[in-house]
Amino acid sequence: MSESVERGASVRGWAEVDLGALRSNVRALRGRIGGAALMAVVKADGYGHGALPCARAAVEAGATWLGTATPEEALALRAGGLPDDLRIMCWLWTPGGPWQEAIEADLDVSVSAMWALTEVTAAARRAGRPARVQLKADTGLGRNGCQPGPDWRELVGAALRAEAEGLVRITGLWSHFARADEPGHPSIRAQLDLFREMTAYAEGEGVRPEVRHIANSPATLTLPEAHYDLVRPGIALYGISPSPEVGTPADFGLRPAMTLAASLALVKRVPGGHGVSYGHHYTTPGETTLGLVPLGYGDGIPRHASSAAPVLVDGKWRTVAGRIAMDQFVVDLGGDRPAAGAEAVLFGPGDRGEPTAEDWAQAAGTIAYEIVTRIGARVPRVYVNE
Ligand SMILES: *Cc1c(COP(=O)(O)O)cnc(C)c1O
Repeated sequence: MSESVERGASVRGWAEVDLGALRSNVRALRGRIGGAALMAVVKADGYGHGALPCARAAVEAGATWLGTATPEEALALRAGGLPDDLRIMCWLWTPGGPWQEAIEADLDVSVSAMWALTEVTAAARRAGRPARVQLKADTGLGRNGCQPGPDWRELVGAALRAEAEGLVRITGLWSHFARADEPGHPSIRAQLDLFREMTAYAEGEGVRPEVRHIANSPATLTLPEAHYDLVRPGIALYGISPSPEVGTPADFGLRPAMTLAASLALVKRVPGGHGVSYGHHYTTPGETTLGLVPLGYGDGIPRHASSAAPVLVDGKWRTVAGRIAMDQFVVDLGGDRPAAGAEAVLFGPGDRGEPTAEDWAQAAGTIAYEIVTRIGARVPRVYVNE
């Protein structure tokens, strides 16, 4: 019965996730990092691929850390039946966050500011055990992280006093790049230099971190000197290149894990001059056939890709005809008459001739990260090669 329920749910549209590809991507990344450990970043539900199945596959392939943005994401993973000794880190905290739960779940938590150190030490007192704290340095991203100079000196000093009191263990020193996806950009060198300086200051004061880390996917792929003790790839795990400027997935032995497909809900013949979808932004140039794809922005298909993105139907690339609506969009099939129910592939690894998430990103004026991450909860994930 569950099988027919699953099939029923995935008739309209589905995101197939190839966990074999994900495992092989993790192995390809591990092949580049020497003795460094690998943290699989599975925030935002594994960039839309499903956090827990992807985490499990990444661990099978040798990831020893998981990373998430929010503590809730990390707590859900800790409750997910993964190995007990797996390290799980989360970095996006706001005042009043679940510090004590995080300590009790053995999470590594990131601290960028004094308010967070104050909250985590209070929670450690309540929990009766030390928190694993990683101090985050802003080496130039200008987002989260502690500023260099007096802010860093104050934070490091206070964290060391909390460590001496047995309230925290400073497990890591870390940072994040702004422009690692632009190989050779001078900001990369500047951030590495500042990271070296800020970690050296902390270590000089007595911090003994288990791990120092700064490398996201592009730095993991292109910048060995940024690997330190641990790398934090996200997008590359899912087989997608951080940007065309860095290279194609195949250049790095990566393979996209997600294929997004749907069953045509309708195929019909229409005369020339027929307006298509809201606003009639497309008009049939002559008599033709239209195919109705039952996915829309309610499923995370970007409306900005209207009249632009490619779809593979019956071995041919077709283009979205007119506006993408909440639940559906249309492709001009140029007179072909596939049966209703025929498969339309929006994107995948590309080896069946289908477009890729990168093609959709270019059509929508965004990045492939956003294309896969926004695929909505209404689209069932179907796991293969588990
Ligand atoms: C999202 C994120 C990563 C992973 O970035 P990718 O570009 O997907 O590899 C690593 N570290 C931090 C802090 C992040 O927020």
